[in-house]
Amino acid sequence: MGEFDLIARYFKRPPRQAVLGVGDDCALLAAQPGMHLALSTDALVEGRHFLSTVDPVRLGHKALAVNLSDLAACGAQPRAFMLSLALPRIDEAWLSGFAQGLWALADAYSCDLIGGDTTQGPLTINITVLGDVPVGQALLRSGAQSGDDIYVSGTLGDARVALEVFRGQLSVPETVLEASRLRMEQPVPRVALGIALRGVASAAADISDGLIGDLGHILTASQCGADLQAEWALPLLACAPALNLSPAQQLAFILSGGDDYELVFTASPDRRDAVQAAARASETCVTRIGTVRAGEGVRVLDAKGHALTQRFTSFDHFA
Ligand code: ADP
Ligand code: MG
Repeated sequence: MGEFDLIARYFKRPPRQAVLGVGDDCALLAAQPGMHLALSTDALVEGRHFLSTVDPVRLGHKALAVNLSDLAACGAQPRAFMLSLALPRIDEAWLSGFAQGLWALADAYSCDLIGGDTTQGPLTINITVLGDVPVGQALLRSGAQSGDDIYVSGTLGDARVALEVFRGQLSVPETVLEASRLRMEQPVPRVALGIALRGVASAAADISDGLIGDLGHILTASQCGADLQAEWALPLLACAPALNLSPAQQLAFILSGGDDYELVFTASPDRRDAVQAAARASETCVTRIGTVRAGEGVRVLDAKGHALTQRFTSFDHFA
């Protein structure tokens, strides 16, 4: 099988909404009146972002999910994506699994695969997504204001539990490993929540490198600081009841875990009802965990309002 047979077999399907998909020198998309095009790209490198042993079906899902998560953070509706693959060799079992996971998620969002590039090289998956967001309604990192509430969607830290087990740093019951591994390998992008938060959230980001770091990006862009309530955040580690972790360890997973692909967002306290309505409309649970304040940096407060001395950091590929 050559490069073009491979593309035709696994990655070419008639587009649903694009004007022209895979097969020509360019893809064509109709510009939508009143919309801004939201674009984002994310690469997954073997050994860096995933283990070589990961199920290719899950990898296909994750490669697209992490990109859809960026659209979600902006409140954009997914439309299409491009896929650049570097493959060490043509492995049909791997390709068919990868394509299966990829198409299942793409179909769930009616998101067309409209092109890409295929080369030989160390296994690297690069996806670029395109979405629509009404002009002026994109959720940005820069809109948080002092006094705003801080929320996160879903649960946090469970993906990191699986990573620590694979690294040999933690041992957990088999059922816990399966659940946390699913969080690591098959994240659910919060697209419906992001769209429902248009006009409600003052700022948003998705959590890929850990809550502390990604909230930090909002705070830097908004020139604010934040106070997080440890007691409000602690229930966010879904697997905690099955494990024997200290509160400090739980907080480390929740605040620094990474690979969560939940949304962290801020909203004015007078929009609390609107936030709850957005959560219901998108069938996504959200938890209020703190407050934006003047200043800079994140303080984590205990039940008495004292700042914890424990240091939390986020993932940095070059640190
Ligand atoms: P060109 O040489 O013009 O860059 P290619 O020969 O690389 O085009 O690709 C041929 C067609 O297949 C193009 O439409 C390209 O977008 C598409 N394509 C290549 N690789 C992929 C892939 N991995 N997934 C989807 N489409 C792809
Ligand atoms: Mg090319």
